[in-house]
Amino acid sequence: MDYGPAQESDILAREWIKSHGPKFRQFVNGKWVAPKAKKYLISREPSTGRKLASIPLSGKQDINHAVRSAHEAFDNWKKLSCHVRARYLYAMARQIQKNARLFAVLEALDNGKTIRETRDIDIPLVARHFYHHAGWAQVRDSALQGYEPLGVIGQIIPWNFPMLMLAWKIAPALAMGNTVVLKPAEYTSLTALLFAEICEQINLPPGVVNIVTGDGSTGAELVKHRDISKIAFTGSTEVGRKICQVTADSEKRLSLELGGKSPFIVFDDADLDGVVEGIVDAIWFNQGQVCCAGSRLLVQESITNKLYRKIKNRMEKLRVGHSLDKGVDIGAIVAPVQLKTIESLVSKGLDEGADMWQPSWTCPKEGWYYPPTLFTNVAPASLIAQEEIFGPVLIAMSFRTPSEAVKLANNTRYGLAASIWTENINLALDIAPKVKAGSVWVNCTNVFDAASGFGGYRESGFGREGGIEGLYEYVRFGIEKDFLPAPTVLSPLNKSKGVGNVNQVPGIDRTAKMYMGGKQKRPDGGYNMPVFNASGDLAGQVGLGNRKDIRNAVEAAHAAEGWSTTAAHIRAQVLYFVGENLEARAAEFAGRLSDLLGQTKRRSLREVNMTLERIFTYAAYADKYEGTIHDTPYRNVTLAMKEPLGVMGIVCPEEAPLLGFVSAVLPPIAMGNTVVAVPSSTFPLLATDLYQVLDTSDVPPGVVNIVTGDKDLLADVLSDHDDVDGLWYFGSREGSTRIRYSSAANMKRTWVNFGRNPDWFDPAQTKPDYFLHKAVQIKNIWIPYGE
Ligand code: NAD
Ligand code: MN
Repeated sequence: MDYGPAQESDILAREWIKSHGPKFRQFVNGKWVAPKAKKYLISREPSTGRKLASIPLSGKQDINHAVRSAHEAFDNWKKLSCHVRARYLYAMARQIQKNARLFAVLEALDNGKTIRETRDIDIPLVARHFYHHAGWAQVRDSALQGYEPLGVIGQIIPWNFPMLMLAWKIAPALAMGNTVVLKPAEYTSLTALLFAEICEQINLPPGVVNIVTGDGSTGAELVKHRDISKIAFTGSTEVGRKICQVTADSEKRLSLELGGKSPFIVFDDADLDGVVEGIVDAIWFNQGQVCCAGSRLLVQESITNKLYRKIKNRMEKLRVGHSLDKGVDIGAIVAPVQLKTIESLVSKGLDEGADMWQPSWTCPKEGWYYPPTLFTNVAPASLIAQEEIFGPVLIAMSFRTPSEAVKLANNTRYGLAASIWTENINLALDIAPKVKAGSVWVNCTNVFDAASGFGGYRESGFGREGGIEGLYEYVRFGIEKDFLPAPTVLSPLNKSKGVGNVNQVPGIDRTAKMYMGGKQKRPDGGYNMPVFNASGDLAGQVGLGNRKDIRNAVEAAHAAEGWSTTAAHIRAQVLYFVGENLEARAAEFAGRLSDLLGQTKRRSLREVNMTLERIFTYAAYADKYEGTIHDTPYRNVTLAMKEPLGVMGIVCPEEAPLLGFVSAVLPPIAMGNTVVAVPSSTFPLLATDLYQVLDTSDVPPGVVNIVTGDKDLLADVLSDHDDVDGLWYFGSREGSTRIRYSSAANMKRTWVNFGRNPDWFDPAQTKPDYFLHKAVQIKNIWIPYGE
């Protein structure tokens, strides 16, 4: 039996397009304006390939105008009461709901995705996002005490969920008191322009939301603009990396939501009929053009044949066709270039020798379609197993044991999402913490909600959207304004003797060694550097670390990653013990500080005592900086777990050589990271004294590794290192830029200070959650719960 078409009416949507004249204008400062250079792009209907509308190809002048408007609007918008901002967001949600049908049809026309999805998923989630964030706007001041809006936010979104991505960007930004300039994707700008109309209808103050259309060149202008405080981007890893590099020398904040190659793991006890429907949602939802698509199917070996057979049966019954046909499962691919990418990756998969299967029916000839496709017999290292295809192509591999499944799942440079299918709750919750991904779905897939954070691990980018964790992307810690210029080399005496550009002297035996894997190590190059005290006398020597020393230290830190699964209570006990053992040697440390810094004993004792207090603080937080449970709908709850980043490089401040070192190194350790620390170049001896304390305090070998030497040189090596997951740098402005630039290679999480440090003695400026927040990444685990 064949189905006839059941076409959703497009009359309203086409009338709306017509009402905007032959050419759309952009929405800037509350007005509709033509692009200065009078250039236009054509948006097409992927279902037919026909022209849908002309939209502005905006350029530099248009971006300047939009950013200026957003700036002018910011002053008033941030001063409004939380309640007033909440009302605007609420009004947006209401208007979106009232116009839901128009939004759904327009989105389906412009993007090629099915009306079933836009009507039942995209647009309802958009409304939900605005409602949820109207709530966050209302309670901002109490929920995020001490935080302030950033300013003007530049937002760049992709074409795969045009309106949903707009909501994910605009709702939290406005709720926190920022104003925005948003650039939709070139293929799909129409729903963003319809949203602009809603901003008009609700009398949103001019300039709070500006919608500027265009292509990559328009986006690049926005990224470059000096008066933008932050770029929020969703799109390809390639462009994300470019954005990191272009903004490296500015203090612009970034959140990047990039590509993925997410595993869909099926154990032999899973409910296979549920699994098959899950696979349909994982890889054929939105034609597979989903950043978190479950594009790598990992199946336990004993059930492969049975499952592949079931999948093929289901594929045979899927219907591909016009996006407005209500009976269609899979719509059109967004653009011919995307279709070519899919075709070329599929042909590479065939060249690589994998087995391809497609249903017997053919796709419509008019429009841009690709049939659902399954690859089996795929080698884990092959191109189609590693590259994001961003189309309806599933590749399948098998595993024998749960640990093999985890290995395969993590065999990717991405880490956006994973789904786990098994009827065994013990197994599911054993695997969930081991998979490196920002979202983990247990017996479900591709579920989203405004209350839950979403975002990547590794090269899938950083930052979260949704939930309370997403709000932190749009605020700054107010007290940052009080941070002081950070000295690069402390004592003028030291400088005069050349420590600033480190002297190389041959090693003698009475040199403080470096510390790696719990052992004292001589520097690989055999060179040492002198350390002078305040009177200019030689106080000792430390090793002059090089590239090889950093590599060894990183290796030692990796070997110690068991620390991340050590019970938080045990981590706390170890840190308390560090405090206890430091206290026993307080006088000695104070003496060292006095000698080196030429300060009174009293002042030095104060630093030691502050250090002890700080150690206690982070020991306390080791088991108290907890995750959250998000109240997400659809028969689940979502565990927002704070997980360590992995191996972190910590380049410590020059000033307060003991307190600064401990304040920088302890938060990551308390959260389960392992660390390669580069202490103050001027006074590294405090750090090398401290490892004796670590040694006697049961800190497992490799958890803290210390490499002394030229701080900036070592920082550069750390930022180039692919196996370093996060890097904190308390040094110069130039160093901060270099680190941001080179960390883009593997999307390291960086925290740099641009030459300004907190006052380490001030509890307000060293608020623990400010530091702890940067030492973790949040994994949202969706588990079945209730009815
Ligand atoms: P893209 O990264 O090129 O485009 C995303 C957005 O960035 C668009 O608005 C685009 O105009 C803009 N842009 C492009 N170059 C820019 C630049 N230099 N500076 C600033 N903005 C720029 O992605 P695409 O070309 O649309 O798709 C290419 C691939 O990206 C896809 O095949 C897929 O793998 C991936 N992708 C991922 C997502 C996701 O949600 N993570 C979404 C879309 C595409
Ligand atoms: Mn289009």
